[in-house]
Amino acid sequence: MSTTAETIVLLREAIAALERATAGPAPAGELRRVVDAIPGIVDQVRALLAVAERLDAPPGSCSLGWGVCPEHGATLVTAAGRSRCTVCGTTWDHDREDRHCREPAAFLLGAAPVCRGHAVAAPTRARLTPLDTVT
Ligand SMILES: [Zn+2]
Ligand SMILES: [Zn+2]
Repeated sequence: MSTTAETIVLLREAIAALERATAGPAPAGELRRVVDAIPGIVDQVRALLAVAERLDAPPGSCSLGWGVCPEHGATLVTAAGRSRCTVCGTTWDHDREDRHCREPAAFLLGAAPVCRGHAVAAPTRARLTPLDTVT
């Protein structure tokens, strides 16, 4: 496991712990201010996590910060931390929609390299250029 991968795990655990801390009834007094600050902290940690995930993605992979089905695009449903494609039935043992895409880039969406699944998920009017035609 690389250092970046370890950082990603730690950041995910931190987000989960912070979200658990805000899930219960709001405490009174001084602690209330701490709990009120948590959503802002979670936003910051999520931003760090996005940076770490981009760094950890293999070279030449899709540049988008969420996952799709590599074949069918935005067809995932996620429940209880597992994602499933509603078209092909492929399942992933994690919330794929909540993770940076790691599929190999195959198209340019505007200027952003994207994988096949994200090209399928792109709006029909989006400008897609197959990467093998880019010199
Ligand atoms: Zn699928
Ligand atoms: Zn992608």
